[in-house]
Amino acid sequence: MTQWVYTFGDGNAEGKASMKNLLGGKGANLAEMCNLKLPVPPGFTITTEVCKAYYDNEKNYPSELKEQLRDAVASMEAILGTKFGDTTNPLLVSVRSGARISMPGMMDTVLNLGLNDETVEGLAKKSRNPQFAYDSYRRFIQMYGEVVLGIKYHVFEELLENAKRHQGVFTDSELTTESLQALCIAYKNNVEKETGKPFPQNPEEQLWGAISAVFDSWMNNRAITYRRINNISSEWGTAVNIQAMVFGNMGDDCATGVAFTRNPSTGENAFYGEYLVNAQGEDVVAGIRTPEEIATMKNYMPIPYKDLEDIYHKLERHYKDMQDLEFTVQNNKLWMLQTRSGKRTTKAAIRIAVDMVAEGLIDKAEAVRRIEPESLDQLLHPTLDPSAVKKVIARGLAASPGAVSGAVVFSAEEAEEKSENGEKTILVRIETSPEDIHGMYAANGILTARGGMTSHAAVVARGMGRACVSGAGDIHIDYKKQCFTADRHTVNSGDIITIDGSTGEIMLGEIATIAAELSDEFSNLMEWADDIRTLKIRTNAETPEDAAVARKFGAEGIGLCRTEHMFFDADRISKIREMIIADSIPDRQKALAQLLPYQKEDFIELFTIMAGLPVTVRLLDPPLHEFLPHTEKEIAELADLTGVSIEKLNNRIESLTEQNPMLGHRGCRLGITYPEIYEMQAQAIFEACVDVLKNGEKVIPEIMIPLVVTQDELSILKEKIAAMADFVASKSGINVEYKIGTMIELPRAALMAGEIAQDAEFFSFGTNDLTQTTFGISRDDSASFISVYKAKGIFANDPFVSLDIEGVGELIRIATERGRATRPDIKLGICGEHGGDPASIAFCQEIGLDYVSCSPYRVPIARLAAARAVLK
Ligand code: PEP
Ligand code: MG
Repeated sequence: MTQWVYTFGDGNAEGKASMKNLLGGKGANLAEMCNLKLPVPPGFTITTEVCKAYYDNEKNYPSELKEQLRDAVASMEAILGTKFGDTTNPLLVSVRSGARISMPGMMDTVLNLGLNDETVEGLAKKSRNPQFAYDSYRRFIQMYGEVVLGIKYHVFEELLENAKRHQGVFTDSELTTESLQALCIAYKNNVEKETGKPFPQNPEEQLWGAISAVFDSWMNNRAITYRRINNISSEWGTAVNIQAMVFGNMGDDCATGVAFTRNPSTGENAFYGEYLVNAQGEDVVAGIRTPEEIATMKNYMPIPYKDLEDIYHKLERHYKDMQDLEFTVQNNKLWMLQTRSGKRTTKAAIRIAVDMVAEGLIDKAEAVRRIEPESLDQLLHPTLDPSAVKKVIARGLAASPGAVSGAVVFSAEEAEEKSENGEKTILVRIETSPEDIHGMYAANGILTARGGMTSHAAVVARGMGRACVSGAGDIHIDYKKQCFTADRHTVNSGDIITIDGSTGEIMLGEIATIAAELSDEFSNLMEWADDIRTLKIRTNAETPEDAAVARKFGAEGIGLCRTEHMFFDADRISKIREMIIADSIPDRQKALAQLLPYQKEDFIELFTIMAGLPVTVRLLDPPLHEFLPHTEKEIAELADLTGVSIEKLNNRIESLTEQNPMLGHRGCRLGITYPEIYEMQAQAIFEACVDVLKNGEKVIPEIMIPLVVTQDELSILKEKIAAMADFVASKSGINVEYKIGTMIELPRAALMAGEIAQDAEFFSFGTNDLTQTTFGISRDDSASFISVYKAKGIFANDPFVSLDIEGVGELIRIATERGRATRPDIKLGICGEHGGDPASIAFCQEIGLDYVSCSPYRVPIARLAAARAVLK
C-alpha cells in the first residue's frame, strides 16, 4: 500500500530533510526538526504524490488516503490529548501548501481550522479568554472564506470596519467579545450569501475543503505563471502540511516571529529578526503593528529566547547553512513552525560561505558551489538603492549591468562634450554603430531602442563596463526634436534619467545607487575558485583601461582584441577614411603608413599591461563602409582634408554600400582584397613586440584572422603575415615568436575545421557570428522577436546570451574534434559573448576547451563558473 501521509510530532517523524521531493520543502524540514527533537507542534504531511494522483484521476483522491488521514489525525489527538470537534478540548490545525521549492502564487495559509459554533466555546473556556477565542473564530471564517471558498476579502474587511466603528475603536485587538461574536455571525451570513451554503461546521469537512483548495491552487494562474518563469515542472505537485495550532495571540506571554540565523543583507554572523507580542502569524506580515527587534526578546521573554538561541545554533550546525526560521511562543513556551535555507544578498552569501569555511562547517569547494556566478554582477557594478522610490517608464534588455543616472544626450559628440565638462550623461540612440564609440566611452550609460544582446551597443558597452539597456522597443526617439517618449512621458535632451542595465529598467530622474565594493571575502572565494578550475579565463579588451580592469579582476590574457575599435578617435578615423577612399595601392599604403604608429603604440600598451600573458589580436573585421562619413558635413570635411571631390567621395561610399554588410565584404575577405591593411596591422604588432622585448619584458602575441571559411583564405594571409614577421626580424635583429590562428564563426568553418587546422595554431569560437549564421537570425535585429519566442517557450533562452548547446554547440564540438584530429595540440578558446555565460562555460569545460574569453566585468563570473563546471 502506498504511504500517502507522513506524520511528525513528539520527537519522531516518518520523513526527513532529504525527502523534499515527496514532502515539499516545508514538510521535509518540519520532519527534520522533529527528528532533531526540537519543539515542533505535531502534524502530518500529505505527499506531492497525492497531488499528482488528484490531477491524474479527475480530482479524485487515492482510496487509501481517507483512512491514512484519519489515523494521522488520531495520532495528533493522542499526542495532544485533544479531539477534532471536541466541545471542551478541541483540536485546531493550520493547513499550508508546500512545494519542493517555496513558490509564491499558491494557496495561503488557513489557521484555526476546527473551530465552529461549539468548539469556539470550548476554546474560550480552555483558554479562559473568550475574546481570544472569538477573535480566532472570526479570523478562521475570513481565511477559510477567502482561500477555500473564494470569497472576495473586501466584504469581510467592510464588516470588520463596521464592527470597529460601531464600538468606537480603532484597532482589531480592542474589539470586545460581544463585538467579535456579532462579527462571527455577520461573517457566516456573508459566506452563506456568497456561496448559497452555510459555513461548514464539521471539522472534517473543513479539513477536506482546505486540502482540496491547496491542490487546486497548484493549477491556478499565478502558480502556472510562476512555474513557467522559473522553469518549475508542473509534474512536481505540492504537498499539504497539517499541523496543530499553537497560539501567539493568547496574551502577553505569547508572541510570533521570524528570524535569520545570520544577517541576510550583510552576512554578519549575528542573529537577526523580529517578533510581535500577542499576535498571530499574518500580523507580522501584514505590517499593521511594527514588530520588535529580536534582540529585545532576550529581556522580555528570557526563557523562550534562550531556547530559540540554542535551536538556531543547532539548526545552523545541522544544515550547515544560514536558516530562515518561523516560531511562535505560546504561554512562554517556544514552538518552531519552519526552517529553511534563508534568501540573502550576494554580499551576504559570500561572507556567509567564507565564514562557514573558517568555522569548519563547509569546505572550500562547497563555498564555491554556493555562489551563483551571475549574482556577482551585483557586486561589480553600482546597484539601485532598494529603498529609493522609482518611476519606471519603459523596459528594454538588461544588456550591460550597473545602474546609472545622467543627462540624456542623443549624439556621441554631445556625450563627449558634456563629459569634458564633468557632466554625467546617458547616450540615447535608436541603435549604435562603430562611429559612436567615443560617445559610448564618454557616456555613463547607453540606451538603445533597437538591438539584441549581442548588438553593437550591448557588446561594446559590456566591454567598456558601461551600463546599457538595449532593444527598448517602447521608447520612441525623435532625433530632430531631440526627445524621446515612453509611457506618455516626454524626455528631452538634458533631462536626467536613470537606467538599470541589470534589470533593463528606464526611470525618470536621478535615483540613488549603492556603490560596488569588493570585500576580502570576495577575494578569498575567487582564490578558491582559481584553485579548482582548469579553464583559463581571458578577456575581450582593446583599450588600456579595459585591459587594466580585466587584469584587476584576474584575467589571464586577452582572448580578443577587436582592432577596429582602436580606430575611432577623431584623428585616426580621418586617416582610415583616407585609406579607404584611396584608389591606388601606393595611396592606400601611404594612408596606412600614417596609421601604423598609432596601432603600434596601442599594442605596446596592451602588451605591457598584459605583462607576458597571451594577447590575441584580431585583424580588422567590419566592412569598410562602417568607417566612412555619413552626414553631408562629414563628407565635406573629408573632401577638404583629402582634396578628393565630394562627387567622387559619394561614388566611393555608394560603391562600398552593401545590402547585407554582416554577410558581405568583411573579415578576412577584406584582408584578401586589401592585403595592405592586414600587413600594416601585422607590422604594428611585430614592431610593438620588438619594442617590448627590447625593454626586457615578455610578450606572447597571437594573431587571429576573422570570418575564415576555407583553408586557402588562412594560408594566403598567413604567408603574408609570416613575410612581415621576417621583414621586422631582419630590420630589428629580433625574432618575435608568435602564433597564428583563426576565429571559427561560420558553420562552414566549423565543418572544415580539419583542413583549416593545418594552418591554424589556435581556434577561437566567435559564437556571436556563429549563432547569427547558424540560426540565420541577425544579431542586431533579434530583440523584437526573441522575447516572444521565449514567452511562447520556442526558445528556452536567448541563443545570443546562452549558447545553443544542441545546434551551435554541436558545430563547436565537431570543429573541436576535427581540429584536434589534424593538430592534437591546437589551442581552443571561445570569445563570443557566451564566454562569460556560466551555462556556456560549463559546456566549454565539458568539451575540453583551453580558455574562455569575456568582457572585463564578467571575468570574476567566468572564474567562478569555470570552477563550478569542474565541481559539477
Ligand atoms: C563573434 O562573432 O563571436 C566575435 C567574437 O566577433 P564579433 O563579435 O566582433 O563579431
Ligand atoms: Mg564575429
